[in-house]
Amino acid sequence: MNLLRLLILVAAVWLVWRIVRQVRQQLPRQSPPADLYEPMARCAKCGTHLPAKSLNSAGLCGRCSE
Ligand SMILES: [Zn+2]
Repeated sequence: MNLLRLLILVAAVWLVWRIVRQVRQQLPRQSPPADLYEPMARCAKCGTHLPAKSLNSAGLCGRCSE
């Protein structure tokens, strides 16, 4: 009778471990994606810090390049 109980216990632990592993795999990764942090750059003329994408090829912001 004790052996049967042990087998049931082992089966239960194995089942719980499997569920935990499945849930962990479905969770999103802890590290945020790289594109969350946009590289910042400074306008060459007015010195405003802006996302690097919004500066033109000369390194000027939209306002200064007009
Ligand atoms: Zn500027």
